[in-house]
Amino acid sequence: MTRANLTALIAAVADTISSHADELTSLDQAIGDGDHGLNMKRGFEAVRADAATLGEKPLPEALKAIGTKLVMTVGGASGPLFGTLFMTLGKEIASEPGRPDFAAALAKSIDAVAARGKSQPGQKTMLDVLYPVQAAVAAGKSPSEIADLADAAAEATKPLKAIRGRASFLGDRSIGHMDAGARSTALIVRAVAETLEADA
Ligand code: ADP
Ligand code: MG
Repeated sequence: MTRANLTALIAAVADTISSHADELTSLDQAIGDGDHGLNMKRGFEAVRADAATLGEKPLPEALKAIGTKLVMTVGGASGPLFGTLFMTLGKEIASEPGRPDFAAALAKSIDAVAARGKSQPGQKTMLDVLYPVQAAVAAGKSPSEIADLADAAAEATKPLKAIRGRASFLGDRSIGHMDAGARSTALIVRAVAETLEADA
């Protein structure tokens, strides 16, 4: 990946989070405390402000720096979880990863998120998007297939009952709403997929 491409990738991810902040807030208002949109927007605006500098770093260093910044700026439950995702990805990924390297590093990063959150798929969280996305990456699916699958996986959190995070306080009343973190994860996945596809 060239520097310009990495900078564009970072900007695309940050921009989609910012432009969907109201939607993320509404989702979190329904079954949480309504801060997810602002949390994510604050964090990704901080990342966006450094996109050019981050894009100059080798991929592992850029990912670690993004993770650290998210931990410092997002807050809530999701800050440390997204931070862990990007920091672990930075630790595990090769400088110029092929698809298998990326799939393996992503698997370790998602496991690190699950360990940090003491959570697993099926509990109505971001993990319900991350795990299927990793499987699709490992299976060699195309970027657009992966983006669509991420949207479908976020949609599929609607009928789930929340077992982790604030929404779990609602018990059965969490059923029927999409998980906010699953939606933000799908937005990130689509931005990455579309940027990579445009570069290919
Ligand atoms: P908070 O819940 O502290 O208000 P946010 O609203 O920013 O933080 O983030 C909520 C999102 O974080 C949820 O929608 C869910 O996807 C994710 N989340 C919360 N707790 C966990 C957990 N233990 N494991 C995985 N993801 C979680
Ligand atoms: Mg919240």
